[in-house]
Amino acid sequence: MGKRPKVAIGLRGLFLIFVLLAVLGTLCNSLIVAYTVQRDALIHSALEANRAYAFKVASSIDQFLHSVNERLKYSSQLLGSDIANPTLSENEARRLQAQDSELSAVLITDSAGRILQAYPTTTGIGLTVTSDELNEALKLRRPMVSQAFTSTSGKLIAFVSQPIFSPTGEYLGLVGGSLHLQQNGVMHSLIGEHHLDGTFAFVADGNRRLLYHPDQPRIGERLDWSKTVDQALLGQDGAMETVNYHGVPMLAGYAHVQGSNWAVVVQQPREQALAPLGKLMRDMLIKIIPAGVVGLGLILLGVMLITRPLRALAGHAIDLSAPNATAELSAINAWYTEAAAIRQALVRQSQHLQQKIGTLNAAADTDLLTGLANRRAMNAALERLDAAQQPYSALALDIDYFKRVNDTFGHDVGDVALQHVAQIIRDCARTGDLACRAGGEEFCLLLPDTDPETAHRVAERIRSTLSNTPIAPVGTLTLSIGVACRDADTPSAEAILKRADERLYLAKRNGRNCVVVRGGGCKGGRKRPPQRG
Ligand code: GH3
Ligand code: MG
Ligand code: MG
Repeated sequence: MGKRPKVAIGLRGLFLIFVLLAVLGTLCNSLIVAYTVQRDALIHSALEANRAYAFKVASSIDQFLHSVNERLKYSSQLLGSDIANPTLSENEARRLQAQDSELSAVLITDSAGRILQAYPTTTGIGLTVTSDELNEALKLRRPMVSQAFTSTSGKLIAFVSQPIFSPTGEYLGLVGGSLHLQQNGVMHSLIGEHHLDGTFAFVADGNRRLLYHPDQPRIGERLDWSKTVDQALLGQDGAMETVNYHGVPMLAGYAHVQGSNWAVVVQQPREQALAPLGKLMRDMLIKIIPAGVVGLGLILLGVMLITRPLRALAGHAIDLSAPNATAELSAINAWYTEAAAIRQALVRQSQHLQQKIGTLNAAADTDLLTGLANRRAMNAALERLDAAQQPYSALALDIDYFKRVNDTFGHDVGDVALQHVAQIIRDCARTGDLACRAGGEEFCLLLPDTDPETAHRVAERIRSTLSNTPIAPVGTLTLSIGVACRDADTPSAEAILKRADERLYLAKRNGRNCVVVRGGGCKGGRKRPPQRG
């Protein structure tokens, strides 16, 4: 097996990284989108709720002021018919104050602002009003709700008034009542207390002066700025994200009180409005996690299934020349098209390589001229026989007077003659025998499991066949052959071949064209020089 190339990361790792990145990216994106959508929804609903609440409070204040005005209007009509009648004015003042607990004091003046009647505090009767708000009401001669101001008794009040006209339309003065604003004043009963979620309402007049605030000491304070109050004082209802005096982000609804040009603002700290968001996100995550774990498990399984055949194929692709590569490649479960195509290509490549290697091995073991095994193959065969301690006989064969063939007919004809001789040796050998060209015009035939007699018969057959087969244009060639066997005296291949060679030379000395099996004389043919066929 070859060495695996050193690459830091595999397909499985890459797959996992990309899939996990994609999954985590999608998850983060979903969470961000869910967070944004839910946050916006919470903000929207809080703004809408605060706007509706502000509108409701503004309507309640408006209705209240309207009903106070209606009662004052009735009195102004009565007084218009007989304002000079102190009994009537006193009765009306009493009645109005008794009827409407929200009116802390009732006042009746003439057109010049002289106080005709006051209740329950009567000390001012006969005096002239001094406050700008009352003078403005006298001047304008129409139903009025004043902005907040501090009364002569030092209390923060708003003054609601109706003009008094005689039946002939002559302006006679006004009748009005003051609304006490501080500490459990009229607004408290209209607006109520804090909400649990941090929502609260405040009311400011046209001068941005607080008429109501849950933080009671602030009532009467004049706001330097307030976007929501300014917006409401423009006569608009709505909602907006803003910040309070301390820079805390707020979700605010605002509404305009038409009858008095006051502003109602309902606001809630943004953070408190978004408090449910954390729980919503937690719930969502808890619901996502089991599905996410199952999803990841499926991804891991999928990645394993997809990469397994590729990993196995890659493992074998490194050494396609391995002897069992083709079989092992074929056994890989390439269950999808691409893997199957790669497997098929690798199997083909491996088969091709095996064939090539087979051809190369055969070429390395074959003598090119005769096609017989070469000396290398012969040595390997002898090693195998030695290793197996297998009995065998060896024939050493040498063409007689072959030099003359070359000298007479040339080297090329000599080669052809060598091929003929080789063919005869091959033909006379049996299955399992190994015919080799030992070098030049010398051959060797290995006969496994063959005793000397049989080996002799084979040698004789070769010798006689050649000597009886003329080769054109050379004529008849002969062979001298030495035979040796593996026995106790000659256990090694080297010794056996040496002995076969000795016997071959004995055969030469004995006149050639003969076979020598033992130390004795020649068996078979006689000296016979090559002749033309
Ligand atoms: P001997 O009977 O004593 O064996 O005589 P010989 O002539 O056969 O022996 P020698 O060793 O004197 O000559 C062998 C010759 O074989 C010499 C060489 O030219 C020839 N020969 C060796 N290899 C080849 C070959 O591949 N092709 C051809 N054409 N001739 C070869
Ligand atoms: Mg020779
Ligand atoms: Mg020779």
